[in-house]
Amino acid sequence: MSKLESVETLVIGSGPGGYAAALRSSQLGMKTAIVERSHLGGVCTHVGCIPSKALIAEAHRYDLLRQWNKATAASFEHAQAFKQGIVNKQADGVSYLLKTAGVSILEGEASLVDEHTAIIKSTGREQTISFKYAILATGSRPTELQAFPFGGRILSSTEALLLPEIPTSLVIIGGGYIGVELGQMYAKFGTKVTILEGGGQVLSGFEADLAAPVVKQLKADGINIVSGATAEKMVQDADTITLHYSKNQEQHHVTAAYALVTIGRKANTDGSLGLERIGLPVTSRGLIDTDEQCRTAIPHIFAIGDITAGPALAHKASYEAKIAAEAIAGQAAKVDYKAIPLVVFSDPELASVGLSETEAEAKTIPVITGKSSFAINGRALALQAAEGFVKIVADPTSGIVIGAQIVGVEASTLISELALAIEMGATVEDLAMTIHPHPTLGEVIMEAAENTVRKMMMKR
Ligand code: FAD
Repeated sequence: MSKLESVETLVIGSGPGGYAAALRSSQLGMKTAIVERSHLGGVCTHVGCIPSKALIAEAHRYDLLRQWNKATAASFEHAQAFKQGIVNKQADGVSYLLKTAGVSILEGEASLVDEHTAIIKSTGREQTISFKYAILATGSRPTELQAFPFGGRILSSTEALLLPEIPTSLVIIGGGYIGVELGQMYAKFGTKVTILEGGGQVLSGFEADLAAPVVKQLKADGINIVSGATAEKMVQDADTITLHYSKNQEQHHVTAAYALVTIGRKANTDGSLGLERIGLPVTSRGLIDTDEQCRTAIPHIFAIGDITAGPALAHKASYEAKIAAEAIAGQAAKVDYKAIPLVVFSDPELASVGLSETEAEAKTIPVITGKSSFAINGRALALQAAEGFVKIVADPTSGIVIGAQIVGVEASTLISELALAIEMGATVEDLAMTIHPHPTLGEVIMEAAENTVRKMMMKR
């Protein structure tokens, strides 16, 4: 066992939370080390955001080629190689940034032994490190269903991104954003996809009119969506898996080459991390409670990202990373969650930031809303993607923007303008009077704002 000199900040986990925290900590002048048991960059870089978006982009291109009768059998091999190239570039980028910032990178699994010491174990090696502050950023893993344990023909999102060839058929348990993104991606590659969703609609976190254009396209892509379905048991053989499910008290089954389980993610707060040894409690969902500076119940230990409450998203993790590092450096930083964008990289894309009208109603917050559609937007028409709309949710008196939702082409990019509006306390008049270049998709935001202003004026 070797003893490493102590550091001021020890970051455990190198996903978008961990590496952003280590970078910020080092930039703020603190001696910083980061520990990673698997690959630098975490889930997002290796088996999450980046590979899924690379394959989704390839699926769109493949779909176009197929429509023009130009797709070849080798295309999926090319897609996987393309994806891996991007993953490698991103992972190299993380390593480069950490090294140039002077962060020590420690390979191995960290276990906390007391409030100021961790042991880092890797094959045949063990080292102890003492720290003044720690930032826990150990992320999450796919949730397993007892009746459908991962392995064989039952995939988690991780294996679903690594298949060597396009599966002939795929049944997905869970119609949240990961199930929809991966399901539509494979459908565009030609897989026959079935989504079994327990609730009333897929993408249940979004208002029904927002999800509708996505559902319409999922069906157009040949996806069979079965809502109100409960997967109960399965039979596997060498080439197929048959899932038995119930719907309206009736039994049904579906046979496919693989089953993909996307029912959520479980925080990596158990196992050898050793939270119980230092007396740090977790909630019933395995999450760590934190204050507005991402500080846990042990004041010099911070927690960020998927192991804390809130949406399990990369940009939420890296936002919290900056707050935690700045808090350690003695700054007055604190989290403000009013403008975390949520994006589904479906076709068409879905994005939301701040409050929806439904959420505002549930909280009895009075709002005024305005909408505008992509249907007559010149740029959207040129892109042959005129489906969808922008909806703005604002305070009815001041016009301050408190939420926005977009379904349509490039919603993932467009939503940032509305996140900035919320962050800056901008009004719908500000958005309506901002000169948007023509012809662009952003003009739909301006028009939705103009419509909101008009409604406000009519109410006065
Ligand atoms: P993680 O990225 O999970 O990283 C944690 C790291 O800690 C891991 O590398 C792990 O090996 C390491 N670790 C754990 N325990 C230890 C230990 N004891 N010692 C050392 N190392 C340890 N989010 C988005 O914002 N946009 C998207 O488009 C998006 N798409 C996704 C698609 C898929 C298929 C999936 C699965 C997820 C997607 N996400 C997306 C979610 C996003 O990946 C996560 O929210 C994000 O990675 C969480 O970051 P994190 O830093 O909390 O942890």
